[in-house]
Amino acid sequence: MGLVSKNSKKTLYKGIEINLPLYLDHQSTTPLAPEVRDSMIDTYSQPGNAESSTHVFGLEARADIENARNQISTLLSCHTDELIFTSGATEANNLALIGYARNFKGKGHIISLATEHDSVLSPLSALKDEGFDVTLIPVDTGGHVNFSKLKAAFRSDTILVSIQTANNEIGTIQNINEIGTLCAARDIAFHTDATQALLTQQTNVHAQNITMLSLSGHKLYGPQGVGALYLKRGTKLKPLIYGGDQQNGMRGGTMPAPLIVGLGQACQTVIECQHKDKVYLLNLSKVLKSQLTSHLKDKVQFNGDQNAALPGCLSITLQSIDAEDLLLEMPELALSTGSACTSSSKTSSHVLKALGMSADAASSTIRIGLGRYVTVAEVEYAANIIINAYNKLK
Ligand code: PMP
Repeated sequence: MGLVSKNSKKTLYKGIEINLPLYLDHQSTTPLAPEVRDSMIDTYSQPGNAESSTHVFGLEARADIENARNQISTLLSCHTDELIFTSGATEANNLALIGYARNFKGKGHIISLATEHDSVLSPLSALKDEGFDVTLIPVDTGGHVNFSKLKAAFRSDTILVSIQTANNEIGTIQNINEIGTLCAARDIAFHTDATQALLTQQTNVHAQNITMLSLSGHKLYGPQGVGALYLKRGTKLKPLIYGGDQQNGMRGGTMPAPLIVGLGQACQTVIECQHKDKVYLLNLSKVLKSQLTSHLKDKVQFNGDQNAALPGCLSITLQSIDAEDLLLEMPELALSTGSACTSSSKTSSHVLKALGMSADAASSTIRIGLGRYVTVAEVEYAANIIINAYNKLK
């Protein structure tokens, strides 16, 4: 299919038309699925505040939101009243961590992971300033939780564990079932940032002993600017945004009905296509890896646990090359050197560092995010571009 930007140009590869630059940055954001766009148009076209119960416009907005609640809660296997809508996963993570901790009035211990997204690490550092104690568990060379360190970290005052379901740079998927079991046995709340994982990983929050889970629309082929926090019934949070009593006072502000409808439809598509997407993305990853390996041999290395990685997410280190130079050499490809959220800060990736990688190796690393609409021909084309650019720079 090929995604078109305002500056797109076309090229032919093996007789197939490809739009350039070719979008291979799906961990940064996914395009809006056509059925999601269609689902939002009606709701965008009429006024509707779900809190307005005195007329049909408000009642329809409420019904649309209820429908979306059903779709999202089906994907997570939770109750419809266990969802709080937010502006995205950053807000959901902040609400989960700060909102939960503040109930403990500055006292308590929180466990998290060295490779978490900044939207988890930054609120944790804010909580440290408020008096909480935070332990970051290291990962092994594949990016997995070090379980002996996790078990040793539990204390009598531990109130919360926050460990991501899958990493946004290296794709490593954590053993959420086991972490959930450890937390439940100790009666400790367990939050997981599932932003990158939901597209391909089956989730059942109740069965997996998850107390809170964060998700984001624009990582699921849904709209930007909307996300949700699953919050287990009975769990208490202090709100971050005070306002009217929308969402039971947990998050003030008018609920954006069109965005929520889009998020619901995106989740509905995931319910229907999760397996298909997973198989498809695994195959695309396989094609890319085998082309790069057969041409670049030991000059290419794939980071993270290749047996437990998000389908389509590839962190690739190309020996003795500067990743920024490589990207400049390949204007045909839209990809990144790491997380979009930190790429402007130019600091070396904390995720790659946590794997034990040297600063040199980290600066030779690019991230490719394949997606639902990327074709095999486009992946082959991309592999050729990378191989040629690498050989040219060497
Ligand atoms: N967590 C992870 C793992 C992410 O990849 C991202 C987005 N890069 C976020 C949280 C933040 O999501 P949002 O853009 O919806 O705030």
